[in-house]
Amino acid sequence: MSVDASIALLSWYAVDKRQLPWRAEPGETPDPYRIWLSEIMLQQTTVAAVRPYFDKFTSRWPSVEALAAAEDSEIMAAWAGLGYYARARNLVACARRVAGEHGGRFPDNEAELRKLPGIGRYTAAAIAAIAFGRRAVVVDANVERVVSRLFAVDAPLPGARERLYALTETITPETQSGDFAQAMMDLGSAICTPRAPDCGRCPLAPLCAARAAGTQAIYPVKAAKAPKPRRDGVAYWLEHDGHVRLVRRPAKGLLGGMLALPTDDAPAEAAWREAGSVDHVFTHFALTMRLLCAESDRRDPDGIWWPIARIGEAGLPTLFARLAARGSEWRNAA
Ligand code: SF4
Repeated sequence: MSVDASIALLSWYAVDKRQLPWRAEPGETPDPYRIWLSEIMLQQTTVAAVRPYFDKFTSRWPSVEALAAAEDSEIMAAWAGLGYYARARNLVACARRVAGEHGGRFPDNEAELRKLPGIGRYTAAAIAAIAFGRRAVVVDANVERVVSRLFAVDAPLPGARERLYALTETITPETQSGDFAQAMMDLGSAICTPRAPDCGRCPLAPLCAARAAGTQAIYPVKAAKAPKPRRDGVAYWLEHDGHVRLVRRPAKGLLGGMLALPTDDAPAEAAWREAGSVDHVFTHFALTMRLLCAESDRRDPDGIWWPIARIGEAGLPTLFARLAARGSEWRNAA
């Protein structure tokens, strides 16, 4: 199975691979900076969502040194809307480590890559394989799905993760493991999809245990999820003379380091009025945030006051961009 699977998959990939802006064309040398950046952005995020951010980042900061020299606030604002903001904070920290301690060159092996901020087991393997041609076992959610079907793995995720890793190891080739990893991801994205795998087009079909049994739909088996806890919060839209009061959130914690509307404690004594609420789902909980709005007759000189007409340029994370849209509606209706 192992050699057959990798040969079949690599032959298919040579013809049918996706064109992605971070991928090297045949004959080109992969750029570790672009591969690292794309892998961080792609964590829990779709290719379609990542593309415009990748283009923006690489045209503005074309090298890891350029990114390392940027202001934190510029990078956080450029990341706004992509979500999972701890990634952006780690991105900055990692770029500075690579620029400052590694002479601007990413380490070329998994063990050293994993010492860098924001680079875990999957990302280290992906960079080592794709950027440096190392043999590495690269397992993301797409690969887990393909392998669970290929071998008809009945144990449920997340407990089955190590088993799926070990099985992926058995089919990872000695050479071209970067192409193999990308081929598995493409297969999972285009053919071995979650709901309706297109087995008739799959290069692994003759080897696939789930296909032989007609049980593709049950894999990967997943343990029942506990419902996400719900939380409630309050945000404040305080405006004065065409400006709205913003805060920079503490570096650590939810949406850390991002500009946002004030939350929890009112930023001033004022006649606060309800302006509805916004629901938002984070990784570990679901949040309903009420919005209270008011006009202030003065500005506190130490606060961040942002022009409301240019609120779209503040780089607010999605939750606060939606709340700000409500604040603007309140303002127009007032
Ligand atoms: S044959 Fe079907 S289920 Fe099996 S790996 Fe291919 S697409 Fe997935």
